[in-house]
Amino acid sequence: MTAAHFEVLADASAGGATRARLGRLTLAHGSVETPQFMPVGTNATVKALHPEDVAAAGASIILSNTYHLYLRPGHQRIARLGGLHQFMGWDRPILTDSGGFQVVSLGDLRVVDEDGVTFRSHLDGSVHRFTPEHSIEVQEALGADVAVAFDQPVMPSSPLEVVADATERTHRWAERSVRAHARSDQALFGVIQGGLDPELRARSTEVIAGLPFHGLNIGGLAGDETASQREATLDVVVPLLTGDPRPRYLMGLGSPLDLLEAVDRGVDLFDSVLPARVARNGQFWVPGGRLNIRNSRYQDDPNPVQEGCPCLACRSFSRAYLAHLFRARELLAYRLATSHNLTFTLDFMTRIRAALRAGTFTAQLSGLRARASRIRGNEVAEQSA
Ligand SMILES: [Zn+2]
Repeated sequence: MTAAHFEVLADASAGGATRARLGRLTLAHGSVETPQFMPVGTNATVKALHPEDVAAAGASIILSNTYHLYLRPGHQRIARLGGLHQFMGWDRPILTDSGGFQVVSLGDLRVVDEDGVTFRSHLDGSVHRFTPEHSIEVQEALGADVAVAFDQPVMPSSPLEVVADATERTHRWAERSVRAHARSDQALFGVIQGGLDPELRARSTEVIAGLPFHGLNIGGLAGDETASQREATLDVVVPLLTGDPRPRYLMGLGSPLDLLEAVDRGVDLFDSVLPARVARNGQFWVPGGRLNIRNSRYQDDPNPVQEGCPCLACRSFSRAYLAHLFRARELLAYRLATSHNLTFTLDFMTRIRAALRAGTFTAQLSGLRARASRIRGNEVAEQSA
């Protein structure tokens, strides 16, 4: 088989009211129904969860971070121990990112030149260098189902000349990533950049879509842009990909409402640490809003966080017990809360897919928006700060 096969099962765009579509991405370790959300396992673990918890929450694919695994425990060590799937005990699909985002945002040296990026480890200050070839070598050693071409992301608000320079370099690095990639059982996705500028975005879409990638990432968003800027950018990218037989993946987006609006604009795949991060702050996502378990009114509440939710928390425990665990900083709190928010997010994607399958996505949009509530990613960040 080829490393990746993507099939569009239902395309709701015919009437012009939406570009949402239902699909199936088949990878070396299994199939992924789209639109789909990927929980993030930064250090080869979805924080606080056993892999069985991750699967029980409904995850069919997770993302892991090349930068973090390269620094610790080291990609060669993971390869010697049988690869990332075996190392972390997860036998379903995995996608590794290119490391570009972390190299640029976490390393405090980060000198970018034409050949690559020199950066300082956030762990011990040691100096390292990533090039497109090295990023691919690390990802091939990790052995995920999907690797990603090395790119140079910049914040959406960066000056135009900075965005233009990074976008052109990303194109040259994309070609080098394609040439360097040799594992036939691993898919390779390319990254579209271009910031918020429509001309740069359009050019980047055409260049990256012109290369033989198995999937197309939409990068440089889910940063400091507004929701309407993000949606306007998707309105540039996705129409240029009409008829393109590859999945579209918006990196770093995580709040239910943001996911829904991006699906409506034609995006198939997402990842974010957001549901897990806000969970560890005691915020439970529930239909129509959120429940802050630290609020004193829950200390005597015998009800589950969300009636009917099949997660580890709601199946067995009351709001009062969870309120107690968070106050006592008990470790079980993080496992239960993370299980709930990932279950909520993945169930939300299941509802979106069911609507697409039934041909009722447009009719159900307002109901789905109400279920997602008005939680935007930046709003959650403010609330949890
Ligand atoms: Zn729950």
